[in-house]
Order: sequence, then structure tokens, then C-alpha cells
Amino acid sequence: MEFYGHIINGEEVPSLDGATMPDIDPYTQEQWATIALGSKADADRAVAAAREAFDHGPWPRMGFEKRQQLMHRLADLMEEHADELAMADTRDMAKPITQAHHDVTRSVLNVRFFADHARMSTTDGYPMDSGHHAYSRWEPVGVAVAISPWNFPLMLGTWKVMPALAWGNTVVWKPAEDTPVSATILARLAIEAGFPPGVLNVVHGYGPNSAGSALTENPDVDRITFTGESGTGKVISAVAARNLIPVSLELGGKGANIIFDDADIANAVHWAVEAIFRNAGQVCLAGSRLYVQSGIYDQFIERYKAAAEALTMGDPKDPATQFSPALASEEHFAKVSSYLGTDALGGGRVITGGVGDGWGVKPTIITGAPADARVVKEEIFGPVTVATRFETEAEALALANDTKYGLNAMVFTENLSRAHRVAAKLKAGTVWVNCFFIRDLRAPFGGVGESGVGREGGNFSREFFTEPKAVVMQISQGD
Ligand code: NAD
Repeated sequence: MEFYGHIINGEEVPSLDGATMPDIDPYTQEQWATIALGSKADADRAVAAAREAFDHGPWPRMGFEKRQQLMHRLADLMEEHADELAMADTRDMAKPITQAHHDVTRSVLNVRFFADHARMSTTDGYPMDSGHHAYSRWEPVGVAVAISPWNFPLMLGTWKVMPALAWGNTVVWKPAEDTPVSATILARLAIEAGFPPGVLNVVHGYGPNSAGSALTENPDVDRITFTGESGTGKVISAVAARNLIPVSLELGGKGANIIFDDADIANAVHWAVEAIFRNAGQVCLAGSRLYVQSGIYDQFIERYKAAAEALTMGDPKDPATQFSPALASEEHFAKVSSYLGTDALGGGRVITGGVGDGWGVKPTIITGAPADARVVKEEIFGPVTVATRFETEAEALALANDTKYGLNAMVFTENLSRAHRVAAKLKAGTVWVNCFFIRDLRAPFGGVGESGVGREGGNFSREFFTEPKAVVMQISQGD
């Protein structure tokens, strides 16, 4: 059984105390790898390596072009190892292999995009009437800690790590304890690509009272970028406040998906299925609240139910599988399935789906749940949609915005004015019109309310991972 260690200072190492944790494949329910289990000592060792690499190593000093070349070399190696990377996420969380491959492609894009974005960024100049000239510089901040969740292990990790690196910072990344392997492979590839020691460190372990909390508490850390649950985000935010360092939080969601009478129904059904059944709904952006206008409600639900039931379920390693029969872990299965009990349904009815075999929940659609039912209010993070009928645009907006979250929303309509009007009024960091999941990496990404603090992507990542400095020069003594 393969062992995956921490990557610290350019070497793969076991934990200082030798501790390990089993890595379970949720589809087979068997251990498939052994992982180093990090403690505070391992986290501190990784931060010290990153600190040394930032303070005295070549990475922040080599310039954008050199870093860009090394990052593209890493991206090339990721493409060569795409099968291994994809299979790691599939074994770790039972993600269908075709979706895992899609994530690898997106991860490679994260590496190339942020390398190029940093290289091509410009700064501002401010010509002054007083005979001076001011300009800005984007300077790296130091050591960035990236903490990522298990639902898109490689893709979300690279989304956070790569802009930090491209801007000249050094990084300690703690992937989720359930999905540690692809991060280790990536860091091995970074060594092969020629990244200097200490630039990209990976530490494994749990969150509270483990490697995760130790990383956030270390006073030598300059930035924390976190993706995960809203509750964890609040804990990390409080720790960061004590050390007075900026934190970027990408948190939970309960996305509204609004289908108007005038929508292209085939397109809306296609995306409504993707929005909640892709990755078995274990997606922060999931369209878990479906609002359908009354004129097409019955027809839409019938087609949507048929499409959900037609998804091919099978071994996640099989390229024909569209929907995994297993959720990411036993613990997560227990959480998701608990929402199918009468208490959480609040009077709602499961019209298709329900608990499957093993640690699985089938594609599930609930109708008739009142607006205050737990299935409507809380993030389930599984393949469970709650469908609700509405009459007017104003009612749809009121229902969609009745949430403590605000990560994303979808609108399906062929009416251009309505599309813009509704997009403007939705409380969300991203609104998709007649589509879902499409991203431009330059656009702001993040949430409002309990869905997060701050934005990442393009210039937004730059602002988080750099300190802008103003330089004012006297260029003329006057006449
Ligand atoms: P989680 O908060 O339990 O864990 C996320 C990461 O934080 C893991 O690596 C974990 O070990 C670590 N962690 C936990 N407690 C910690 C602590 N006290 N200190 C430091 N680290 C700690 O989240 P999860 O269950 O892995 O992920 C699912 C959640 O992530 C969902 O709520 C989902 O919506 C959210 N998510 C958000 C986005 C987004 O972009 N907004 C994307 C994906 C997932």
C-alpha cells in the first residue's frame, strides 16, 4: 500500500512522531493508501521551511518570467500525470473518473492562468502636477497557508495555491484529511519541475487540534486562504484576527436555481441536473433549491425527474459512470442521509431517490417542502434538490434571497430584460444565466453572507496575495 508523506522543504517526509492515518476509498470502503498524520510540530516545520524560502530563497527574487516558466513546467508534468492525479481524487472521494479528469484539466488551467496573469499584470502610474510621479508595486507578502476541502481536492487546492506562488509567496497547503493524495502528487511534481525547496509545502492532518489549526495559529504566517464550511470559516477568521492577518474565506452555499415559464426547457433541465447531481451534489455551488414557475412546473418536474433517474450509476473508476453510488465518506453519508428523515423534510415528499447502497444517496428530488423546512434552509451538500413552485418574478426573488448564504444563483429565461433585472437583484457572488459552472478565472469568485469573505480570481487574487506599495518620486525640481 503506497505511503504519502508530507512535502516539506523539497522532501517527502513522514510525521516527526511517525503517526499515520488510513486513506479510505468510499466506494470500496477499504483503505487504499496510508497518509502521514501531521501534528503541530509538522505544521510548524512546514511554516519554518516556507518562511526560510521566502526570506532567503530564490523564489520571491527570481522574477515573474522565471516563476512563470517553472509553473508551466509543473503544468506540463500535471498533464503527463493526468491519469494518476484523476485516479487519486476518484479513489479518495468516489468522484466519477470523467469528472476527476475534468478537474485535472481545470487544475492545469489554474497553474497556467495564474502564472501568466502575474507575468502580464501592470501597475498604476499617477503623474502629479507637483513635479512628482507616483506608481504602485505589487509585492509578495510572505508565507500563505491554503486550507482546502475534499469535494474538488486538486482543483480547489490549485485555485488557492497557484496565485499565491505566482506572486512570489511561499505556501503551506493542507488538503482535506479525506482527500490527501492528489496534493502530494502535485507537490512531488513541483519538486521534479525544479521548484526551490520550501516554496510549496504540503502538510497532512485534521483540522481542529491538528495540523490545520496549528497552521492558522502560527505567527509566521502572513495570509490564510480557506475553502470549507461556514462554521470552520468563522473559527479560522477569529484566529486570523488574533494574529492580525488577512483571510480569504470561500464557504458554504444553498444556491437557488430559478426557472421561468419562458425558459428553454431542455437547456434548463440539462443544467438543473448538472447543478445538483454532478459530483453527487457535493458542490458549494450546487443548485440545491429549485424554483419553477407554475406555468411549466408539472412538465418541468416530470422531465427533470426522468433525467435524474436516467443518470448512469456505477463504479466511479468506470468512464461510463455519471453518478457515483458513494458519497465522499461514511461521516458525510450519515449527514446527507439524515436530511431524508421526516424531521428535516418538514412535510416535503421525496418523489425520486433516497438512500442507496453502501455510503450512497441516489439522485433525490423533494417537492412540497415549506420554506422553513431544514432541507430548504440548510446546506445538505449532497444530491438532494428541493423543488418549489412560484407564480411571479417578485416571489421568485423573495424565495431565492431568503437564505443566510449567497454564493451563487442560476436564472433560466429567454427574456433578456428579465435576465439582467433578476441577476442584479439576486443576493449572490455569482449569477449564471441559462448555464451553470462556467468560469472565467479573471472574474471575481466568492460569496456574500455566510458564503464567504473576499473574492479570488485574477486581480482579486492578486490583491489578496500581495501588498500594494506606493512609490512617489520627485522627477523635477521645478523651473
Ligand atoms: P471543512 O470546513 O470541514 O474542512 C475544510 C478544511 O478545513 C479541511 O482541510 C479541514 O481539515 C480543515 N479544517 C477544519 N477545521 C479546521 C480548523 N479549526 N482549523 C484549520 N483547519 C480546519 O469543510 P469540508 O467538509 O471539507 O468541505 C465542505 C464545505 O466546503 C461545504 O460547506 C462547501 O460548501 C464548502 N465549499 C465551499 C467552496 C467555495 O468556493 N465557496 C468550494 C468548495 C466547498
